[in-house]
Amino acid sequence: MTLNRFMIWAVALAASVAAQNTCETVEAQTAIKVLKSFTIDYNKEQSQYWSTFSGDLKPTCILEPETSEEVAAIVSILHKNNETFAIKSGGHNPNNHFASVDGGPLISTKRLNEVIFNADSETVRVGPGNRWDEVGEKLDKTGYTVVGGRIGNVGVGGYLLGNGLSFMSTEYGWASNSVIEYTVVLANSSIVTVSETSHPDLWMALKGGGNNFGIVTSYLLQAYPQGDVWGGNLEFEATPEKTAAILAAVRNFTENYPDKKAGIIVTSERTLSTLLNIWILFLYYNGPEPPQGVFDSFLAIGPTINTCKTQRYADLLSGNNWSVLKGSIYTIGTETMPLPSKEDGPEVMQAIYDHWVKVSDTTKFVPGLIASIAFQPMPRGIATISKSKGGDMMDLDDQHDRIIIELDYSFYYKSDFDQVDIAMRATYGGFQSIVKGYQQGGLLASDAYLPLFMNDGFYPQDYFGRLRPEKLQLAQSVQAQVDPDGFWRDRTGGFKIPSK
Ligand SMILES: Cc1cc2nc3c(=O)[nH]c(=O)nc-3n(C[C@H](O)[C@H](O)[C@H](O)COP(=O)(O)OP(=O)(O)OC[C@H]3O[C@@H](n4cnc5c(N)ncnc54)[C@H](O)[C@@H]3O)c2cc1C
Repeated sequence: MTLNRFMIWAVALAASVAAQNTCETVEAQTAIKVLKSFTIDYNKEQSQYWSTFSGDLKPTCILEPETSEEVAAIVSILHKNNETFAIKSGGHNPNNHFASVDGGPLISTKRLNEVIFNADSETVRVGPGNRWDEVGEKLDKTGYTVVGGRIGNVGVGGYLLGNGLSFMSTEYGWASNSVIEYTVVLANSSIVTVSETSHPDLWMALKGGGNNFGIVTSYLLQAYPQGDVWGGNLEFEATPEKTAAILAAVRNFTENYPDKKAGIIVTSERTLSTLLNIWILFLYYNGPEPPQGVFDSFLAIGPTINTCKTQRYADLLSGNNWSVLKGSIYTIGTETMPLPSKEDGPEVMQAIYDHWVKVSDTTKFVPGLIASIAFQPMPRGIATISKSKGGDMMDLDDQHDRIIIELDYSFYYKSDFDQVDIAMRATYGGFQSIVKGYQQGGLLASDAYLPLFMNDGFYPQDYFGRLRPEKLQLAQSVQAQVDPDGFWRDRTGGFKIPSK
């Protein structure tokens, strides 16, 4: 080899080596903060996942951009190689590879953490690096808040892209219905402002479209007046009588929604190794005290613990963080059901509950196993509000009340993942069969549209396939416009849009 040829080869090799590793290129060419593996900061950030399994996946480095321009620079560098990567906000989505990556860079939005309140426009600009308790705290003295998570520790970024179910959804709709504007870094590294009038299709696609269209670097949110709230938890023993009464109460509450300022999550937990079997309810009222009667049907069942009280909204959000138990692997899954009538409610609701008990029993010898189910009311009024605010990808109609079921299995060891994976699929798969059976038998509305809720979805669930065909087509057509080469589709995880 002549010297000249050697030099050309060496330069090409150096360029290709540099181009293959985004972490090294970002460090060499930009001022973006790069956390390298085996450092304290890297390990600290990796501990910020709800599921320890996600934290055990090891990115090559963690990139912490501070501006949209820095995010655009990362996207541009990523194009020069073929690495997988992940985008992470709060790290609360427990599906592996959604906000976590094994090899390749992790883009943490942690430093995109602005919370800027504008009293004149009654809006708040919120960065995806925040968690909802931080947003609540920063807005506390303003007398305003935004529609966000019910558990403070959840991140802003992923939550809003999955539509976002809030305690305030019966007043203001899905959290995404209050997003006025998104700032997005697209696959071609351009930075665009997306609103109802600027890129309207993309604006719609982002309301429940996940991470398929770009990295959102800020959300402009409608602000709403906020004072003290009332809320906390009720705990009940899961005796057969109390279980039947709670299932009836959540059904009735969903149909005869007593007050749009009221919110509730009805959960049951089974710790099979210690035979713990309880119900825990999260109650919320947007005011210092609920009017008499709002939560009576639940209180009358006789909770063993009642922590409800008047408090700051920010305290309610952070107070609910007790439920974020760290140190376990989590899986999450969901199903949507039409609300049964009062007459058919006992049979249908009990069948759902019993199926969950039966399947969760199959995991009884998995170390550290906790099975949990949440019944989340989805009264038709939320669909009405969503439509009045321009809609969203789930596009619920107001013909039916629904319940969105959320499932979690948590456990200690990765070696048990496959067994729990089977149980999770059997749980929501069984719900679907039960619902279909009752639809065929006339106990549940046979014409009800039953999309899945992205934020509670298990990785194999067909989120996009369960949307209305026109919404799926919208997602496909926006993807063709903004990501023609499949940059987000092929290089990072999450619920992906099936091709046409
Ligand atoms: C304890 C707990 C309570 C919950 N409570 C609620 C609730 O009340 N209401 C509700 O709706 N959901 C709730 N969820 C579900 C939660 O909203 C989802 O898990 C959501 O994905 C978490 O948001 P995150 O920002 O923490 O997500 P992450 O895990 O960081 O990210 C989730 C997904 O969003 C993508 N993403 C994140 N930020 C961006 C961005 N800026 N641009 C592009 N893509 C991005 C990621 O790539 C990933 O695919 C809860 C979850 C847990 C664990």
